[in-house]
Amino acid sequence: MDPITALLDDVLAEIAPQDAGAPADYIPELAAADPERLAFAVVGPHGRVRAVGDDAAEFTIQSISKPFVLALALQEQGRDRVLSRVGVEPSGEPFNAISLEAGTGRPANPMINAGAIAVSSLVPGDDVDERTARVVETLSAFAGRSLWVDEAVYASESATGDRNRALAHLLRSHDVLEGGVETAVETYFRQCAVIVTVRDLAVMAATLAFGGVNPVTRRRVIDGPVARDVLSIMGSCGMYDFSGEWMLRVGLPAKSGVSGGLLAVAPSQFGVAAFSPRLDEHGNTVRGGLVVETLSERFGMHLLEPHESVAVPAVAIERAPGGGGVIRLGGELGFAGTERIVAILRDFADGLPAGATLTVDATGLGASHPGAVVALRAEFETMPAGVVLVV
Ligand code: GLN
Repeated sequence: MDPITALLDDVLAEIAPQDAGAPADYIPELAAADPERLAFAVVGPHGRVRAVGDDAAEFTIQSISKPFVLALALQEQGRDRVLSRVGVEPSGEPFNAISLEAGTGRPANPMINAGAIAVSSLVPGDDVDERTARVVETLSAFAGRSLWVDEAVYASESATGDRNRALAHLLRSHDVLEGGVETAVETYFRQCAVIVTVRDLAVMAATLAFGGVNPVTRRRVIDGPVARDVLSIMGSCGMYDFSGEWMLRVGLPAKSGVSGGLLAVAPSQFGVAAFSPRLDEHGNTVRGGLVVETLSERFGMHLLEPHESVAVPAVAIERAPGGGGVIRLGGELGFAGTERIVAILRDFADGLPAGATLTVDATGLGASHPGAVVALRAEFETMPAGVVLVV
């Protein structure tokens, strides 16, 4: 076992004895899950999957499908059209609540059932089969392998899905649903019944972490701005009426499902996923949540704590024998990074012998923000002769 996998294994072993909660029982097929199953996986920028525990255990994706079908709808229909059908505000209510906006009838957000059904109605396709095919194809592209629908779970959910059908009828009465009730809910039930493993979920999370490019297949699945929109909504709404406390404790956008899956995203760093069927009162996996919370603490992944890498671009200095030289910038140049570069540069420029040149080579930057480049250029106006910027 490599050292990183060993660290993950330690986290898993610490959490394993916890036995609070119970598997979902309102969908008969889910009640049959083995509550002892526990697994955890992490995928980084090179697409290497590190997994521990029951990582081959298969389970249905359930509500974790919601952010990915949302990504499909945003990609195909655009943000404005999607937002005309569903809001982006945390509901503070359980996942199956009737959280519809007064006046418009829009569901509060796409992570609760009402919102997800509205989003599923936006999936292109003439009938349930075509729409399901689009959904499965999208989920598969995120996972980097061909996924399929578990017909038994689908049938079990469809047979007992009166509450979701009722939600869809309400949506239709408000003119929020695109097309008929049955088409929307049947697409939704099938998307929830897609079979995954914790490895699949970690790759799917990683695809969101890297701006829509699957780090395993290297394929772009969705556009960068779509990935950002999806993560923003996961950040405020992904854990239902626990989303605020989750952000406080863990600090990562996440999505849970009633089968016991959970994924979380550390942008530019990792996709992580956990699986353990026992759920808390919000319908979130108990041990899965603890695993991700421990990982976030141990690896310093909370998004809202200071991360130096954003403020400090990589700088390589090559000094020339007669003074001067080349400063090569790499990584990401943001606003704060510009300030640091300028401070280094001023020191260097002050001691620059007459006739020597100091070149700042910004061509190796992986990403630069327009405002940061404008600020950097402006600083160069006031630099001594001999200091040049190459962008
Ligand atoms: N298919 C489930 C439902 O609609 C999904 C809910 C969930 O995972 N929270 O009830």
